[in-house]
Amino acid sequence: MSHCLAVLVQTPAHSQIAGALSYRSALALPAGTLVRVPLGKREMLGLVWDAPDPGAAQAPIAPEKLRSLIGPLEGLAPVSPAWRQLVTFAAGYYQRSVGEVALAALPPQLRELSTVQLARRLKRHAKAGTPNAANGVSDEDPTVLTPEQALALARFEAESGPFLLFGATGSGKTEVYLRCVQNLLTTQPQAQAMVMVPEINLTPQLEARFRSRFEPLFGEQAVVSLHSGMSPAQRLKSWLAAHSGAARIVLGTRMAVFASLPQLRLIIVDEEHDPSYKSGEGARYSARDLAVYRGRLEGAKVLLGSATPSLESWHHSRPAAQGGRYLRLEMPSRIGLDAALPLVRRVDMTHQPKRCVIAPPLLDAIAQRVARGEQSLIFLNRRGYAPVLHCSDCDWKSECPHCSAYRVFHKIDRTLRCHHCGYTERVPRACPACGNPDITALGRGTERLEEHLAELLADVRRPNSVSEQWPAGEPVRIARIDADSTRLKGELSAQLARVHAGEVDVLVGTQMIAKGHDFRRITLVAAINADGALFSSDFRAPERLFGLLMQATGRAGRDADISGVSEMWLQTFHPQHPVFEALKRHDYPAFAAGQLAEREQAALPPFSFQALVRSEARTQETAQGFLNAASAAASSMADGAALLQHITLYPSVPMGMQRVADVERAQMLIESPSRAALQRFLSAWQAVLHSTRGQAEGKGLLRWAIDVDPLLI
Ligand code: ADP
Ligand code: ZN
Ligand code: ZN
Repeated sequence: MSHCLAVLVQTPAHSQIAGALSYRSALALPAGTLVRVPLGKREMLGLVWDAPDPGAAQAPIAPEKLRSLIGPLEGLAPVSPAWRQLVTFAAGYYQRSVGEVALAALPPQLRELSTVQLARRLKRHAKAGTPNAANGVSDEDPTVLTPEQALALARFEAESGPFLLFGATGSGKTEVYLRCVQNLLTTQPQAQAMVMVPEINLTPQLEARFRSRFEPLFGEQAVVSLHSGMSPAQRLKSWLAAHSGAARIVLGTRMAVFASLPQLRLIIVDEEHDPSYKSGEGARYSARDLAVYRGRLEGAKVLLGSATPSLESWHHSRPAAQGGRYLRLEMPSRIGLDAALPLVRRVDMTHQPKRCVIAPPLLDAIAQRVARGEQSLIFLNRRGYAPVLHCSDCDWKSECPHCSAYRVFHKIDRTLRCHHCGYTERVPRACPACGNPDITALGRGTERLEEHLAELLADVRRPNSVSEQWPAGEPVRIARIDADSTRLKGELSAQLARVHAGEVDVLVGTQMIAKGHDFRRITLVAAINADGALFSSDFRAPERLFGLLMQATGRAGRDADISGVSEMWLQTFHPQHPVFEALKRHDYPAFAAGQLAEREQAALPPFSFQALVRSEARTQETAQGFLNAASAAASSMADGAALLQHITLYPSVPMGMQRVADVERAQMLIESPSRAALQRFLSAWQAVLHSTRGQAEGKGLLRWAIDVDPLLI
């Protein structure tokens, strides 16, 4: 007797094979079993999605007519029903096919290795699977919790959550995470915990802390990582350890939210506001939001942590009487002798010399730090030397021929580089349009700021106490950290190590340096152009700016040896702006209240729900035409009127970056006061988008994708 099984395989994004394929199997394999199946001439990884149908005889295709699946992956337990439910939900909510989401959530090597190779890996893993004996004691001295930490932990243990841990930078959130995990794992011998962090380069620090705390307690295999910086073999190894239950703790970036954890009881999302939790391709999921969903699904407690929560999470954690769904745990105090929050100083640029880049009082402050052997961190959110080259004779500018953007001047290798499509050329000797040899750099990026600072600080000398291999009276050392200076693997950590070792006095960089690094000797942080985000068309720009600046101030003054208050300098033309007023008082709640009031008035998230459809085509006309046609066709859908009742479809517009690599891009915003109404509409509208795309055939390239709860509009 043979069975008919529904099996998910990886399907191309637009293939419309949304559901599972049917295969014949001699075995009644349970749902969740990983199998190999033939597809066309190839052999592929598949995932049994539905258990054998008892009424298989009445199936539309008789089992005899189906192809047989090749067989299950031996030695691998099926993924859990909860995992399948998570995938089903994510696919539905983010408007992608279940097959795509499910297969993308599995480690790539499961798909790529041949049956024989894979069998070998699994065998090796099974052998290594017996955890090394743990001695049951941690090497670390137990930290005595602060009263705030103790209270947060007690409430966490007593309530069910979800929780928002609102703790200042340096308030000891990590210690709270460690205790939550420890309490769980010691009281429940099978339980597993997942801890998510936003960036790969933050995982090594956290991983080290988790390993030193938990390996002595729970064995050497207890902690595994999952992030995209790992080799495929490492990822498979971690995944298998989590899936088999051998790993008790999974540390990872957003992809970890889909890890298979049969005994998941706790999910921690650190820096929950961080935009990198939102995926930018495929199913554009929010790992934070899925973590909350998954927690409810699996009965796992969820703890979100941040010093500057997303306004969505903050709003959810309002008092229950006002409709809040999360429990807010507060830890306002920083730990340490002298860990007062930095003093925020606003430099009113309207009162500074014209066109000055660094205001004289700020320059003085930096020079004083150098002379005292302390470090300064200077932010500018623009890399390269200058954002554009310009000819003042004919007005030529270094436009990218393929994008609606200027190519950035990089002085170090004398190139003009497009940061969007990568198109790179040597800098011309003279204006390509009129031959004028005097082409000038307009504006300023990190490279130029670094050069400028070196000139301004040329006469400043270091003291002799900082570093032994460095004689007294040496000139100031300036370093730059941005995407250009850290292109090579390992370069970022090498540069950070130099900063930590005190070899750098002034660090210039982009937002890359703001997050998570613990720069103990830094006593001054400055934002050169703090105004950028205030007047952006993106309603989330102030939220991101505030978070970034609070993070940056949190980086300052962590070293108890350094006396005196550290400082955060803001160069602005709008010193009285409420964002800066709130920042000055380190008052996130006031900032959030102001922003939420504005958003409520404008019916923006979290008071409404949004989705974006983006389209790409050879011409802007095609890209927008497609969106407008799909929009017009929405009303003629079955139930169209009912579905559209609570939906606003905005006209299509060119994207902010309208053309990238010769592809024109457009987008259309869809809004609703009801999440459910938006979901119903999008699900029904998918078919319209597909058929509109079908009718546009023959016009060459045309792609579209839906982004639910978009972060960048
Ligand atoms: P956050 O993650 O909230 O920014 P951290 O967890 O990094 O803060 O803690 C800041 C510093 O305080 C760290 O150096 C940490 O080791 C220390 N710390 C945390 N909890 C305690 C405690 N209970 N007693 C003493 N030091 C602590
Ligand atoms: Zn010219
Ligand atoms: Zn380009």
